[in-house]
Amino acid sequence: MSIRISLLALFIAGIINFNCSQNGNNMEMLADFVADVSNHSYSKPEEVIVTHLDLDIEVDFENKMITGKASYQIDNKSGSIEMYLDIRQMEIEKVTLGEDETETAFAVGPEPDSEYLGRPLKIAIDADTKQVNIYYSTKPEAAALQWLAPEQTEGKVHPFLFTQSQAILARTWVPCQDAPGIRYTYNATVKVPKELMAVMSAGNPTEKNAEGIYKFVMAQPIPSYLMALAVGDIVFKPIGDRTGVYAEPAMIDTAVREFSEMEDMLLSAEKLYGAYRWDRYDVIVLPPSFPFGGMENPRLTFATPTVIAGDRSLVSLIAHELAHSWSGNLVTNATWDDFWLNEGFTVYFERRIMEEIHDKPYTDMLSMAGYQDLQDEIKRQGENSDDTKLKLNLSDRDPDDGMTNIAYEKGSLFVTHIENVVGREKLDAFLKTYFNKFAFKSMTTEKFIEYLEKELIAGDDSLAKRINLASWVYSPGIPEDHPVRESKRFEFVEENLAKWLDGTKSHQLSTQYWSTHEWLHFLRNMPDTITEERLVDLDSTFNFTASGNAEILCIWFQHTIKHNYTASFDSLEHFLMKVGRRKFLEPLYKELVKSEEGKKRAESIYAKARPNYHSVSTNTLDEILGWE
Ligand SMILES: [Zn+2]
Repeated sequence: MSIRISLLALFIAGIINFNCSQNGNNMEMLADFVADVSNHSYSKPEEVIVTHLDLDIEVDFENKMITGKASYQIDNKSGSIEMYLDIRQMEIEKVTLGEDETETAFAVGPEPDSEYLGRPLKIAIDADTKQVNIYYSTKPEAAALQWLAPEQTEGKVHPFLFTQSQAILARTWVPCQDAPGIRYTYNATVKVPKELMAVMSAGNPTEKNAEGIYKFVMAQPIPSYLMALAVGDIVFKPIGDRTGVYAEPAMIDTAVREFSEMEDMLLSAEKLYGAYRWDRYDVIVLPPSFPFGGMENPRLTFATPTVIAGDRSLVSLIAHELAHSWSGNLVTNATWDDFWLNEGFTVYFERRIMEEIHDKPYTDMLSMAGYQDLQDEIKRQGENSDDTKLKLNLSDRDPDDGMTNIAYEKGSLFVTHIENVVGREKLDAFLKTYFNKFAFKSMTTEKFIEYLEKELIAGDDSLAKRINLASWVYSPGIPEDHPVRESKRFEFVEENLAKWLDGTKSHQLSTQYWSTHEWLHFLRNMPDTITEERLVDLDSTFNFTASGNAEILCIWFQHTIKHNYTASFDSLEHFLMKVGRRKFLEPLYKELVKSEEGKKRAESIYAKARPNYHSVSTNTLDEILGWE
């Protein structure tokens, strides 16, 4: 896609700033404003690429603004006299060049049709420019930033701010070359209100300081989508030598108990695929409005509090985010079309870690549940849909559209398939070398295939046939040679479910040793034909409506909405008001709007709850509710 913008349009919009005294031919250069969008970014890294960022910002809760300066070291490979950055929902005050800060001209393109892309920021540079300094401020609606009022936090006293940069939201809080194939190191100075602490995807403080000024170093090059910042009344507690937890004071002890296996997970992961390259591995538990389960921001995973179930039953999410320290953060998808390279390997790796921490029967449950997610996803998309291919085509679309179970579960099924064909030992050796060889680099699907063919298949035609690469990567649906997922523990659940459907009372079922996963399997496979009376029977025995486990609540409420089990509705509303994780909100609102009455309920709840949700969630929910 390419967007051509006329200079006239820019003049009319009043968004060109000229400063011609320093750069004689800037005027001419800016007059020829052509911005190409490829891979969801306006930057042209083949001409000028950023190599290091010095970020100096202040966080202003009152005005919901971040203001400051982003100074980039650049590599002007082509001797170009212009460079491009991505920006969205921000104001550019001025741009200067070099350490002596000579002011230079810049131009901002107009808002394109696809709002998610934001605008190109074109900057006049010299062929020998090494440093570019951008003075900017974000707008209150900046999509990456979630500003929480004190009442939206656990402690209720202080406000909170967190970012979510993936996929292309980093450009709403830092001007950047916002493409996953471009990596840079960063240092940051962040000023926050004195009673709060700031943490980033970098080396982090463990205590507040009196000035409210925090300094960060990220010495390993990362792509922009891994830029992250959280500010709030945060405290730290260690778990092991290299692991620890950040959270609000009211949450910290619960979180430390829940995540006590973190150090063991780190050791298990290293045993599988080699040394951890990021120094420390910490987790911050965010307020419940965080839209995802977790975000693998390097050195500091951002996590939803909905993984805290009280019994460590949902901590595979931590294993997942940790696994990204290899697949994703170390070897990174070059474009969002290659997203499965990040997520498919990570889900596979996550389950290998869980197998080390627990055992195979436990992990079989996770794999089986994942397989069911995949089947549901394919049913939703249609089995011939292009969006069920591993390699996606997201041009002209918001890359967020590609973040489905296909990348995660079809991806991991494919890796399991390779394991079944070549054997675990061989696959592990291959992956270990792969992560090492391509560390801190980006990877396309094509390059991966080429590497796998060379290293693993090595001219063996029969092996190539059995791996069946092309069909797995470029065809829709699930190939026929897919691994069979089985779980003995789930079979036992299914026997009990069958009995219950035959009329056995809930309290007569053999459930005493069930984990969360067994319960999820039971609830998920309850047919739509059950009656409200059976729901009452279940609820009176197992008390699902009052469960503290968000995964269980989410499936339970889908049944209670379907069968109009009104006794659960207060609890449902409470859940929707509090939790902002899109994975839970989306199916519940979708179920609600299916009936007239439910739609009214959904609208009234959404009107109250929407300010608690991050833009990632409201983008999806606005569509479901027809909210403009
Ligand atoms: Zn992931």
